[in-house]
Amino acid sequence: MYLFGNELEIWARIPDSYWHVSGILQRCPDWGGMIMALMMKCKEVYLYFGEWRRVVFHPEKNDFSVEFSDQPIMDADDMCVIATQNLTYKMREEIQDLMEPIRFGQALADWIRGFSDDVKVKSLLTLTKGDYKDICLKMEQLMCDVMHQRELRKDRFFFHASYTDENYLCNTCKEEMRQAFYVKGDEDVALKWRPGSRDGKTECVWRNCRYFDSDAFEPDDDD
Ligand SMILES: [Zn+2]
Repeated sequence: MYLFGNELEIWARIPDSYWHVSGILQRCPDWGGMIMALMMKCKEVYLYFGEWRRVVFHPEKNDFSVEFSDQPIMDADDMCVIATQNLTYKMREEIQDLMEPIRFGQALADWIRGFSDDVKVKSLLTLTKGDYKDICLKMEQLMCDVMHQRELRKDRFFFHASYTDENYLCNTCKEEMRQAFYVKGDEDVALKWRPGSRDGKTECVWRNCRYFDSDAFEPDDDD
């Protein structure tokens, strides 16, 4: 629950303060219905009046403790934004900030869908609007899938290259490929490995090596 209003600002500015339910209701009588009920029920309650405070309900004492807080990360699963007054400019900006990850995730999902006709991509990124957690989860699934595909491709290339006749790819190059792909553990080194070159500089003595499967590295299109 994200509550925007400055009715309690004077109290909220006192560090480590406690607010009794009756005290709040005295100050904000119109909170007695829905707002107070939600403040008691919600697991995470944040108050914004120009600064953020986290408000935690203690049922045994019927009061709230108030902690200083950074800008919370919005959980779009079941959230509730309430304004108890006209929004100030700062409040409006803060709400836009809270929504930004959702907007960004949505834009990214749209962008990826625009690029790919892949059925899997389409089905994964068909989203309920504004569901931040869902977007993150699906993006993660997609990323894991891409990484997995890339590993498979690397393995296929490696075995294909390993069994190639030495006239086309020399044993030194094969060994350097093995080092780059599986031993050094440096992704950058693995990506920069090319047949016929050492560390991207020195060319190996076997002339054919650098022509080996060259279209596997620099494809004509951007796929
Ligand atoms: Zn070579």
